[in-house]
Amino acid sequence: IERTLSIIKPDATKRNLTGKVNAKFEEAGLRIVAQKRIQLTLAQAGQFYAEHKERPFFGELTEFMVSEPVVVQVLEGEGAILKNREVMGATNPANADEGTIRKEFALSVGENSVHGSDSEAAAAREIAFFFSGLELV
Ligand code: ATP
Ligand code: MG
Repeated sequence: IERTLSIIKPDATKRNLTGKVNAKFEEAGLRIVAQKRIQLTLAQAGQFYAEHKERPFFGELTEFMVSEPVVVQVLEGEGAILKNREVMGATNPANADEGTIRKEFALSVGENSVHGSDSEAAAAREIAFFFSGLELV
C-alpha cells in the first residue's frame, strides 16, 4: 500500500478549510495516517522546494509557504501518489477539473491550497522531511 506526502497550504489553513480538504481525501479513499500543523521557516521552505530554486516564482512560493502555518500529512491508499494528484487537480485552478480540491478552493496558481508528492522518490523524500519513524504507524 502506497503513501504520499500532502501539504494543506497557507491559503487553505487561513480560511479554515482543513476539514473540507480532508473530506475530499477521505471520499477518494485516501487515509490520513499522520498529520500535524507546523510553521515553516524560509530556509525549510527553500529546502523543501529546492527543485524550483531557479524558477521565477521561487521567492513568491517560499514566502507564501511561510505566511501562515501549514498542515503536513501522510496519505495512504492504493496508488496514493497518483490518486492524490487527481483529487488535487491541475496546478492552476483555472485548468482544474470539477470536484477537485483546487477547482473548489484554490485562489490562484500560487495560492493553490495543496501540495502532493509527484513520484515515489519524491514521496519518500518528502515524508522523511516532515515525519520521523515514530510518528508513522
Ligand atoms: P505542488 O508541487 O505544490 O504539489 P504542482 O506539482 O502541481 O504543485 P509545481 O510545478 O511542482 O506544481 O509547482 C510547485 C508550486 O509552485 C505550485 O503548486 C504553485 O504553488 C507554485 N507555482 C507553480 N507555478 C507557478 C507560477 N507560474 N506562479 C506562481 N506560483 C507557481
Ligand atoms: Mg510539484
